[in-house]
Amino acid sequence: MHEAKFSIHIHTHYSDGSASHTDLVKIAEQAGLHGIITTDHNIWIDGLDGYYGEGKRKVMLLVGEEIHDRTLDPPGNHLLAINARKELSVYADSPQQLIDQIASAEGLSFLAHPIEDPLEDFNQKAFSWRAWDVKNFNGIELWNQMSEFKSVTTSWFSALRNALFPKQMSLGPLERTLALWDDLITARMQRIVAIGGVDAHKLRIKLGPFTIHLYPYLHHFKSVTTHIFTPKPLSGSFIDDRNMIIQSLRQGHCFVAYDLPAPTDGFRFSVNNDDGQFIMGDEVEIKRGLTFQIRLPRPTLCRLLKNGQVIKEWQGRDVCTHLTTEQGVYRVEAFLPYKGKMRGWIFSNPIYAWR
Ligand SMILES: [Zn+2]
Ligand SMILES: [Zn+2]
Repeated sequence: MHEAKFSIHIHTHYSDGSASHTDLVKIAEQAGLHGIITTDHNIWIDGLDGYYGEGKRKVMLLVGEEIHDRTLDPPGNHLLAINARKELSVYADSPQQLIDQIASAEGLSFLAHPIEDPLEDFNQKAFSWRAWDVKNFNGIELWNQMSEFKSVTTSWFSALRNALFPKQMSLGPLERTLALWDDLITARMQRIVAIGGVDAHKLRIKLGPFTIHLYPYLHHFKSVTTHIFTPKPLSGSFIDDRNMIIQSLRQGHCFVAYDLPAPTDGFRFSVNNDDGQFIMGDEVEIKRGLTFQIRLPRPTLCRLLKNGQVIKEWQGRDVCTHLTTEQGVYRVEAFLPYKGKMRGWIFSNPIYAWR
């Protein structure tokens, strides 16, 4: 199994971001990423997908789209379309039709920032998901870094602090989003893949003669990432590698990470039954019993959850195991102290155990 680190949900100057695609791949290389997925608002840019750079430091660029109905009031229903490879914003006013169109284009659909808070002092509305009657989407954006900014900013003072010291800001996915995800995966016993998104824009604020750049792309690229497991190492051949990455994302063979406090590379969550080993995103038949194993890149606080409830917690261990014969949806969370606070570090996709 091989691990590739991606930054997802990035805006360029084709919408409200402030960098070009070629700038972004250079920054991604600096951040040590294997790939980035750009998602401009209601515009898909043709002809830019591919590998950039040379040798081992190649960066894969996948151009997706963030589609929403601009006339919706209250606003919301932002959908990330990944690998549809065509313009689909014409379906913006019908989320179900949009999801179906993405699926028939062999793309993936993720509900962006499904729960968001308004930022009232700054006249910013909440862009939550509202069309909860939709079905057959691939997953949700469990952690959106710029949405989190809206949730943790409660005053002008905290806005300034969070803007000037971005490393102090991120704590993890919203509890409400985690609960929502648990409800979806438990009630439906259906694969709903979690990804981490940065929603990077590199906002520019003019203060008299000065221009301040908030949340530079490099900060985003080093922080909330999605680590994707592929069955073979990336070969450097774009089409093959892209297909493998998309297939792994579709299966939920990935985890959401906060790489800023410490690298999360090497995290594993797997389960064994009589037939062999399965990884996050997989469905597994219980048979005579299951042995779950968690491997952490460093010893820290780790929780195993079943159907949204914590069933086991370890402190200061880097290998944790759990034996069971109970069916359910199992996932892992790990936390790490950083800048004076415990912060979300790793959120695995679930293993679906049934008999
Ligand atoms: Zn959005
Ligand atoms: Zn966005």
